[in-house]
Amino acid sequence: MRLILFVAVASAFALVAACGGGRSVAPTSPAAVVATPAPPPVAVVPEVRSGETGAPVGSAVSSPAQVLPGAPVAVTAPGFLRRQQLFVGGTPIFLWPQEEAYVRAIVYAGGQFGLIRWSGGFRVKPWPGTEDKIAVVIAEASRVSGLSITMTTEPAEVEFILDPAEPVLADNALAVTFRTYSGLTITHSRIVFRSLGEFLGNNLKNGGRTNTALHEMGHVLGLSHSISYHDVMSNEDDRNPGLTYGSGEELALRMMYTYRMPGNAAPDRAPGVPTTTALRTPLSVVVD
Ligand SMILES: [Zn+2]
Repeated sequence: MRLILFVAVASAFALVAACGGGRSVAPTSPAAVVATPAPPPVAVVPEVRSGETGAPVGSAVSSPAQVLPGAPVAVTAPGFLRRQQLFVGGTPIFLWPQEEAYVRAIVYAGGQFGLIRWSGGFRVKPWPGTEDKIAVVIAEASRVSGLSITMTTEPAEVEFILDPAEPVLADNALAVTFRTYSGLTITHSRIVFRSLGEFLGNNLKNGGRTNTALHEMGHVLGLSHSISYHDVMSNEDDRNPGLTYGSGEELALRMMYTYRMPGNAAPDRAPGVPTTTALRTPLSVVVD
């Protein structure tokens, strides 16, 4: 809607500009009106860089070795996911420097779903009385995603709610995150807790899990559950109990929000690359 409006405004402006003159200006030079044929596109060797360090990846192998702008290209290198995308001339290809099994679990909800993420920042409405704890969660989510995330008392894109009667929590789950999408872009989330003590750092469940609000915020950002207990997004009782995400989660979120689009497919295929694999939207309800 915003794009359409912008185009309409731009067109109106162009119309006014075109009507403002009245004089027709002759070309100053015959050379200016002779159409110069565009040079044919040239296939080049892609520039490949690490998404973590930005450094060139010398071991990268591109297929094809030289690629035309707009054409599909696949790039492999030890220690990185195989990247498939449409080539953009003059733009490096940034490789994802993580294990495939790890990324399939935490980014692609097991591998069969597309990458989901926000298109920009959002506002968070905390449950009254939990502002201090939610402020910690918001600061950490902002840090790892690079998004502008702010707290508000008004209705917001993301809302934390206390509701012991939430039916999804009937099986003793601590919390549930509901996500709403536009395509594979996250547009709203609602996090429902069963008790105030489980927001952040109060109640322990089996000796662990002191950071449930930060875990749910990971779901809000688009993460699924992690296979590493070093992570906040682990479902294990002895998972990372800290108030900052694990290094793997931080890197995954950086790749998602700096270098990848909604609808990227496992292990690392950009939207638009021809494929026979259908893309699925992740579940909108994540319990615990
Ligand atoms: Zn969870």
